[in-house]
Amino acid sequence: MQNILKISLITIFCTVFFACQKKTIEIRINFSNLAERYVVLQLQMGNIDKEYVDAYFGPLKYKQMADSNKISLTEIRLAADSLLFELKKYNENFFNPLWKVRYRYIKKELYALLARVAIVEGNRKAFNTESNEIFNVIAPFVTDEEAEKVLKNLDALLPGEGTLQERFEEFHKGFIVPKEFVPILFRMALEELRRKTKLYIQLPSSEKFDLEFVNDKPWGAYNWYKGYFNSHIQINTDLPMYLDRVLDLTCHEAYPGHHVYHSSIEKIIVRDSGWVECSVYPLYSPQSVVSEGLANYAVELAFTKEERIEFEKKLCDVADMNSEKVERLHRVLKGVKKLEPFSNEVVRRYYDKVINKVQAVELLMKYTLRTQAQAEKFLSFVDNYGSYTVTYSEGYNLVKNYMARMGVTEENTHYRWLLYKELLSGPFLPSDLLKDKLKD
Ligand SMILES: [Zn+2]
Repeated sequence: MQNILKISLITIFCTVFFACQKKTIEIRINFSNLAERYVVLQLQMGNIDKEYVDAYFGPLKYKQMADSNKISLTEIRLAADSLLFELKKYNENFFNPLWKVRYRYIKKELYALLARVAIVEGNRKAFNTESNEIFNVIAPFVTDEEAEKVLKNLDALLPGEGTLQERFEEFHKGFIVPKEFVPILFRMALEELRRKTKLYIQLPSSEKFDLEFVNDKPWGAYNWYKGYFNSHIQINTDLPMYLDRVLDLTCHEAYPGHHVYHSSIEKIIVRDSGWVECSVYPLYSPQSVVSEGLANYAVELAFTKEERIEFEKKLCDVADMNSEKVERLHRVLKGVKKLEPFSNEVVRRYYDKVINKVQAVELLMKYTLRTQAQAEKFLSFVDNYGSYTVTYSEGYNLVKNYMARMGVTEENTHYRWLLYKELLSGPFLPSDLLKDKLKD
């Protein structure tokens, strides 16, 4: 009798076990199919909205499918709705933590796609609504009184005649890199940052980039990720290049910023894990907040304050610039950084048509100490990319706060790189950076 019971229990166990296995395989097959349709849909959107797909490094067949089946915005909306409907049939509680990341990622990116479709159709929304729907973040409101208070505290840092903006502009002029040395300094910085990054992150052996200096662009620099761990980096030389921008831009666009981020996504997530949905990077999506946040944090990751000053002094020597005031430059820039929240505040008022372009330029100069040319360039970026500006500030804050919560200090360099590396190991969303465990 006992033997019969034993056999029956084993039979039931095996039936349930194999049924569960079969179910898991079915879920994976269905999910992979859904992910492939998601990729084609994003590429189809990219065929209409030319700046939408920032990078694609997946199989050629999906690109060919998107190109041979061009669909309208209405059809894109219907297809996105249908994918969301199918996604919602899954109960995410049955997924392991890693698959939950995958599930939520596709869902959020599809909602962002729907919001972008509405904008391309001509239904522009308020700045905060747009940034929330597409990027899942909202830049905090700040008042003019708060701006005045920060400016007052900065006053003593830059004594002299004229407005604070004029004094900062005059002081910063002393750090303009002579034009003929700009390419040399960028190459020096890139070499040093690639060396530093390789100490902590194993980069694919075939990773490489090429560098181009361009003009007449709404942005300061751009990383065009081409796949196969290859980036085309462009630096815009429309405006004077300041010494501090050399490391800011190199870290942001290349090492350990965008080039390393995209290479890691391609290697770890797309090639090794087979998550095809991450082979397409839609610019107007929550992923941009994490990508820009990591890129903006990159310079703090790569250098301590002292290391940065030391390296910038070397750059000064090469470019025949006076290196005596580099320490003071960073004391002043630390103060000016406190004005960053006012950039989004002015942009929000401009985008929502509360103020016009002339007023926005004036306010940007007054509250963020930009030169007139920098303020105008910044607004031309807003004219092109809408609320994308929030990805830089809010992305940086999310990464910085995450690192602080995890106990990162300027001294524990190894730990800082370890956490950063972990952030490169999945298609994380802004909400993931509010948690203590990324894969919960
Ligand atoms: Zn960027």
